[in-house]
Amino acid sequence: MTALAILGGVVLAGCGGPEATRAGTPAPASSPGPAAKTAPERMEGPPTMAPGPAGLTPVFERRAPAGPATGPGSPTPGSAAPGRGGEAADDKVVALTFDADMTADQGPRAEAGEHFDNPELIALLRRLKVPATVFMTGRWAEEYPDQARSIGTDPLFEIANHSYSHYAFSSPCYGLPTVEEGGMRGEVERAFDAIRKTGARQVVPYFRFPGGCYDDASRKALAPTGVTAVQWDVVSGDAFATDADAVAEQVLDGVEPGSLVVMHCTRSAAPVTGEAVRQVVPALRERGYRFVKVSELMRG
Ligand SMILES: [Zn+2]
Repeated sequence: MTALAILGGVVLAGCGGPEATRAGTPAPASSPGPAAKTAPERMEGPPTMAPGPAGLTPVFERRAPAGPATGPGSPTPGSAAPGRGGEAADDKVVALTFDADMTADQGPRAEAGEHFDNPELIALLRRLKVPATVFMTGRWAEEYPDQARSIGTDPLFEIANHSYSHYAFSSPCYGLPTVEEGGMRGEVERAFDAIRKTGARQVVPYFRFPGGCYDDASRKALAPTGVTAVQWDVVSGDAFATDADAVAEQVLDGVEPGSLVVMHCTRSAAPVTGEAVRQVVPALRERGYRFVKVSELMRG
């Protein structure tokens, strides 16, 4: 299996959006984005926001699960595979993350009735008392400021950065438009500005590359922002999925202690996410898992 890779403090694996693998026709669940063969290092530089991750050096090393694998690239469901290193090695924690995707040019589609938001999903997470991290684009925050504030002022949640425009930071990237030259740092800063402008307070210095696409140049470009790039090791496949059972199964098959799952908080493009969460949460709790936000996972 390709594990969630963290070298030097950066978590990487892939990204959600139109690019995410659909459940039922999955690429390997742990498959990273096209450029994510190597993990970038912690992006150095002064944090532009609080609370900053100064000195954060997460130990987060995934190993192949013990025992026979169930198939190529497929971790053994429910196995007691060793998870992260350090004190929390046996801690069965999992972080559900939800990408709030909205591309800079999708305003007219939202006006025409397309739902880039999913308040029912957020309400469900609250009912189930599941902490979660929302990777939000700045454009989404501008479109749904009340929801952004609601998420960002609820201690159950935290908001991380998914760029302003959801354009690609390296090309090609699933047909996403590419950030113009010199615009990468501004993408991150503009997203933080848009998110904070809504009144959201729990904003954390983590960043997920749109489409999971990055290269050395984009890593270098983001260094001054002080963000830590966080991707995932479990692809839920919820983007454009119509079969909630398949999404839930893919998550349950992929999760190991310390896993980071990518899902979406955009109803039109990920209509069965809520139903999948409804299945996944009790099943993982039954296995002894506890849900944590990314910041807690990183602290571990
Ligand atoms: Zn995305």
